[in-house]
Amino acid sequence: MPILNRIAEFHDDMTAWRRDFHQHPELNFQEVRTSGIVAQKLREFGCDEVITGIATTGVVGVIRGRGEGGAIGLRADMDALPIHEESGVPHASTTPGIMHACGHDGHTTMLLGAARYLAETRNFSGTAYMIFQPAEEMGGGGEVMVKEGLFERFPMDRVYGLHNWPNIPAGEIQWRTGPVMAAVADIRIAITGKGAHGAMPHNGNDPIVIAAQIVTALQSIVARNVEPVEAGVVTIGEIKGGNAFNVIPEVVTLRGTARWFLPEVGDILETKVKALASGIAAAFGATAEVHFDRMYPATVNEPASTELATRAARAVAGDAKVKELAKPTMGGEDFSFMLNAKDGAYLMLGAGRSPTDPGVHHPRYDFNDEVLPVGASWWATLVEQQLPRRD
Ligand SMILES: [Zn+2]
Ligand SMILES: [Zn+2]
Repeated sequence: MPILNRIAEFHDDMTAWRRDFHQHPELNFQEVRTSGIVAQKLREFGCDEVITGIATTGVVGVIRGRGEGGAIGLRADMDALPIHEESGVPHASTTPGIMHACGHDGHTTMLLGAARYLAETRNFSGTAYMIFQPAEEMGGGGEVMVKEGLFERFPMDRVYGLHNWPNIPAGEIQWRTGPVMAAVADIRIAITGKGAHGAMPHNGNDPIVIAAQIVTALQSIVARNVEPVEAGVVTIGEIKGGNAFNVIPEVVTLRGTARWFLPEVGDILETKVKALASGIAAAFGATAEVHFDRMYPATVNEPASTELATRAARAVAGDAKVKELAKPTMGGEDFSFMLNAKDGAYLMLGAGRSPTDPGVHHPRYDFNDEVLPVGASWWATLVEQQLPRRD
C-alpha cells in the first residue's frame, strides 16, 4: 500500500491549505486564525466531535471508526517563528517578522489531510484523535495540553508525531528507538560586581572579567563531569554588559542553553552550572544569580510504538525509503511532554529538494509540498493498521 490514492487525489487542495497557512503565520498561543480554519475543516470533513480551546488555541478532532476498538492520537503543531521571511516564494508570509520557518504549516496540513481521509473512509475500528497543538517552538503548548487533561479527556493507547526534515531526501522516513531529541534548559546568569572608572579598576569589582572566567569554566562541565560516551551541551549564546570603552559596568548577564538525554546528565549540568557560576563570582567577591530553567524533556520513542510507526512508514514509502536515523539530534521538541505521558513515537519525514536546501528556522526555508501526501498517508495508515476493521 503506497501513498493512499484518495489522499493523492486531494494533493492540490492540501497544497492550497498549506500555502494559505504559510501566508498567515501566527506565534505561540496566538494561532487564532490557524486553529479556526483547522476546526472549521474538521467539521466540514465530518469529524464526530471537534473540541477547541484546549491550551488556548489547541484543537482535537474525534473520528470514530466502524465499531469498538482501541484509540490512537496523531499530533501536529501549528505555530510559526519570529523570523522575517526571505524565501521570495509567491505565498510568502504577509506578516513582517513572522514566518513558518519550521514547516508546522505543512504538519498541520498533513494532519488535516489524514482527518479528511479518515472521516470519509472510516476504514478502521475504535477512535482516532487528531491533535492540533499550539506553541511548539517557544511556549510548551504540548505540555499545556497534557496538563489540561488531553489524555484523560481523550483516552488513547498511543500518540504519534512527525517532523519534516529538509536534510533528508523528500519522501524518506527515518525512525529511531529511544531518544530522538534532547532535553532543553534555558540558562540565565546575572553577575553583579561594582561599577567604576575604567582607569581605576581598584575602585570597582569588574563583572566582565568574572563573566569571562565563568564562560570558560562552564565549558569544563561536559568535558570533565559528563561520562564521555553520553551526550551533553552547555552553550552561552549571549553576553550583555557595559556600554562605554572606559567604564566598568555594575552588572553582566549571560544567557545560554543546556542539552542532554539522560536525566542524570541533566542533573550534573544543572548542579555544575550553578556551582561554578556562584562559586567563581563569590571567589571574586561578587554575586551571581543563576537560573537553570528546564524547558523540554528529552523526546524518547517507545520501542513497540516505534515498530508500529515504522511498519506504517514502510507501507507508505516502501522499504528502501524507510531508514534508521543515524543519531539523535540535540534540538528540542515539545512532543516530549506527550511521550512522557503516553507511549508513542516521533518520526522524521524527509522533505529535502536538494542537498543545499535551507534547514528549518532559516529565513529562506519553505515546506516542501511534494511530501504532503506522504505524511498524510503515514498518519492514515497508522490508524488503519493499528485499529483494523472488525466488521
Ligand atoms: Zn522549530
Ligand atoms: Zn518544528
